[in-house]
Amino acid sequence: MTIDTDIATLRAGFTGTVSAPGDDDYDDARALWNGLIDRRPRLIARCESVGDVAAAVRLGVDSGLELAIRGGGHSFSGASCVDDGLMIDLSRMNSVVVDPVARTAVCGPGASLADLDGATQQHGLAVPGGTISHTGIAGLTLGGGFGWLTNGHGLTIDNLTGADVILADGRLVRASAEENPDLFWAIRGGGGNFGVVTSFEYRLHEVGPMVNLGMFFWDLDHGGDMLRLVREIAPTLPRSAGAMIAGLNAPPAPFVAPKHHFKPGYAFIIAGFGSPEEHARLVAPLRDAGPLFEFVTPMPYVGLQSMLDDSAPWGINAYEKALNLDELTDDVISVITEMIPLKNSPMSIMPMFRLDGAYCEPGEDDTAFSARRTPMYVANFAAVAPTPDLLELDRAWSRGFYEALLPHAGDAGVYVNFMAEYEEDRVRAAYGQAKYQRLARIKAAYDPANVFHRNMNIKPEA
Ligand code: FAD
Repeated sequence: MTIDTDIATLRAGFTGTVSAPGDDDYDDARALWNGLIDRRPRLIARCESVGDVAAAVRLGVDSGLELAIRGGGHSFSGASCVDDGLMIDLSRMNSVVVDPVARTAVCGPGASLADLDGATQQHGLAVPGGTISHTGIAGLTLGGGFGWLTNGHGLTIDNLTGADVILADGRLVRASAEENPDLFWAIRGGGGNFGVVTSFEYRLHEVGPMVNLGMFFWDLDHGGDMLRLVREIAPTLPRSAGAMIAGLNAPPAPFVAPKHHFKPGYAFIIAGFGSPEEHARLVAPLRDAGPLFEFVTPMPYVGLQSMLDDSAPWGINAYEKALNLDELTDDVISVITEMIPLKNSPMSIMPMFRLDGAYCEPGEDDTAFSARRTPMYVANFAAVAPTPDLLELDRAWSRGFYEALLPHAGDAGVYVNFMAEYEEDRVRAAYGQAKYQRLARIKAAYDPANVFHRNMNIKPEA
């Protein structure tokens, strides 16, 4: 097939647009969040309907073009774009329909967290999502999804009630507890391995619209003391609060004195969803511990969800490694306080998420999520830099941080959404043998030719 016939075939009956090299919108369409990724697809199908997605998948399979599926474009690995292949771009399918009575939201696969939160918050409702609002809901959900609400309401997948999926043969199927339950199990943690999800249905919870923030910052010299305090506090937090620890540079924000702007150090952030009185009680020991500065304030939930957006803007150069830790032992704290001062880019950051409470309720095999359902910390060593040269320095820092903490990581699993590189052995280890085999069997049933492989790929069982 020539490129002209590829385009002509796809354009017939397509409601979206098809871009090829040389078209005005081609460079915009192939760009991803990670500015390091520079791939040139042969075609980009910018879908606007489920029919478009099915047509694009069929064309890719029939013509032997490698497929890349793009939701929000935020995978660190850039899996959602492909050299010489067919990029199926879902970003225009970003509708969110909320039923405030049934407390559900039906969401298109191109929606961002901002789209989802914006629509649900009009009714004082929300579903747990990530902590940066321009992230896509699709990739985030398929890998698991956690954020400020996870302590109270679990992972994003714990609130997924159904999905529509286009399979490799172009068929549309439903995945839910009642229909294709094996597929429904697999897409809750198994990533985009099984087909293209064209809609996600979530259960919603009452949240906000006002919530409470408590952010406390200590300089490098006080990192050890701060982390020892935090390991006492984090496990005692009620489900009405979410927590994150971060090794970072102080932001140049209005609530930070200019003399502290960009100062390296550690932050502990509590998002409170209970009463102001409860929040005041939760943050009191942190205030007493003498941080360099603090920011304690009520804010809209959508403000909380977007307050870290500028720390990871679109087009920035990025790389990450991550692992899960059962405890913040003295050894772990020593590694962290040795490594944080060594980062080179002021934008590089070690966010560490506390998973607890409702996260631990589902059984280990209820979903395909790639980590144990016990209280833990998810530590992420994110190299983020304005230039590729600086990124290279912190890529080494990120890998070194990971290697140094690996001996302390135990077997709590790995979050597949925090892998910047596809490493088959790590993907297998992340799920564990039994879960991986179950996923591989389901992969063989729904995508035996491994058409959907630009992801944390699960090989179909032979
Ligand atoms: P994409 O790159 O579009 O897709 C990611 C993967 O999913 C690709 O393999 C793609 O092919 C596949 N895919 C996308 N859409 C579909 C679909 N509809 N059907 C089938 N496969 C599909 N995660 C958290 O849990 N919590 C956080 O707080 C968090 N914060 C983050 C902040 C930043 C700045 C970034 C970059 C990432 C963050 N993540 C977080 C990780 C995030 O969950 C993953 O990067 C996720 O893959 C992003 O999804 P996406 O749709 O934007 O990405």
